[in-house]
Amino acid sequence: MQLEAKNIGFRYGEGPWLFRGVNIMIESGEIVGLIGPSGSGKTTLCRILSGYEAPLEGSVTLDGSAISKTAYHPVQLVFQHPEKAVNPRWKMWKVLHEGWKPDQSLLDSLGIEEEWFTRFPRELSGGELQRFCVARALGPKTKFLIADEMTTMLDAITQAQIWQAVLEKFKHSDVGTLVVSHDAALVARLCHRVIDLRYLSK
Ligand code: ADP
Ligand code: MG
Repeated sequence: MQLEAKNIGFRYGEGPWLFRGVNIMIESGEIVGLIGPSGSGKTTLCRILSGYEAPLEGSVTLDGSAISKTAYHPVQLVFQHPEKAVNPRWKMWKVLHEGWKPDQSLLDSLGIEEEWFTRFPRELSGGELQRFCVARALGPKTKFLIADEMTTMLDAITQAQIWQAVLEKFKHSDVGTLVVSHDAALVARLCHRVIDLRYLSK
């Protein structure tokens, strides 16, 4: 499968163009890095790639077709702030089982503990909550994972554990990944190739 952004451009309102003429292609199984300075539009680009925002110019397609908004989205976005990604009134079992029930092996590799399931999001640390968000994004219908500063807020050990779990899972599936980070060392370590938003935009 291919996730392709063709000639996309975006700006907020009448503001300056954040990027224009950007082309990105990610293949199944590929781990691609995206770097760029703060404010360069990385998060905006992630939202466009995962269907939360429409590009003002160009298109995003999955194997050449526009992505349907109705089904479980094959392009899953995990971003920096897990507390903004979950319903604060839902206990974790509901947050997680919203779409599907993950394998115990995935929960184990992400270090998710049984007793966390009966807690509310505010009763978990940022790292614990982010593990749930990662698990939720790795459903059987996920074809691409867009990781926007997914582990930036976490300590080095948690960061390493989460990425190890994700990479282990992807060894057995064919999910493509975009790793967005300002941490060049992390991106260099994880990715097959790296693109720099500064040089992508015309
Ligand atoms: P990055 O993730 O690379 O730091 P963002 O995509 O978050 O960049 O933001 C790019 C620029 O767009 C920033 O200058 C930011 O202030 C601006 N921006 C982001 N979201 C909005 C919004 N909803 N309305 C107006 N401007 C925005
Ligand atoms: Mg960002």
